[in-house]
Amino acid sequence: MTQPPASARSGARREEIAAGLARVRARVAAACEDVGRTVSEITIIAITKTRPASDIGLLRELGVTEVGENRDQEAAPKAAECARLGMTDLTWHFVGQLQTNKSSSVVRYADVVHSVDRVRLVRALGQHASRTGRTVTCLIQVSLDADPSRGGAPVDQVPGLADAVAGQDALVLGGVMAVAPLDEPPGAAFSKLADVAAAVRAAHPDATMISAGMSADLEQAIAFGATHLRVGTALLGARRAFVR
Ligand SMILES: *Cc1c(COP(=O)(O)O)cnc(C)c1O
Repeated sequence: MTQPPASARSGARREEIAAGLARVRARVAAACEDVGRTVSEITIIAITKTRPASDIGLLRELGVTEVGENRDQEAAPKAAECARLGMTDLTWHFVGQLQTNKSSSVVRYADVVHSVDRVRLVRALGQHASRTGRTVTCLIQVSLDADPSRGGAPVDQVPGLADAVAGQDALVLGGVMAVAPLDEPPGAAFSKLADVAAAVRAAHPDATMISAGMSADLEQAIAFGATHLRVGTALLGARRAFVR
């Protein structure tokens, strides 16, 4: 069987992504309406892991310029490819667990790192950003349960980490991030995160970002003050193996 021409395939893909985006925007609007917030307070970050640069091109044409990735091995070449294709107006978010030795690579393309959870990582990011002449916004990832597998710092370490980020010339403290634990209603977790965010803001008033909420729980995240949603499947469909 012959494949339809590339232009027809990308047209179909554009329609899929446009439909996903319309559904996500409608959910965001309804959730904001429910709790008396406005949609302009919410930034949708498209999580593009396992997706090709062509999807990012389509998202961009639909007005989405905030993109997020969770693995440096995948993100670095994808960001370079997008830049080569002229997509120089994207904001890149790194949302996955980050090994310290990947810091030098990540600071080259990431504008925001959501997964800062230890002082060693703060120092490495600060040093490499400074050397590269880049400014990187950092969110402190908060662990809302005892499970270390999703990364994140225990709540009691968050103030110290926030101070450490603020003390680095090449880093900007943006706020906090969390992934809701699986064994707890997401609302309870996001409520805890809101308290942690308020404590961070008390010491650092400009650190207003709250990165919370994914495809399954963005309504609860909005109810508890999320400013940045990290949405993959609801925008782009079920993930498949990454092919480059
Ligand atoms: C993949 C991922 C997301 C997006 O998850 P979906 O359920 O596909 O929306 C959000 N945050 C992080 C840290 C991720 O790794």
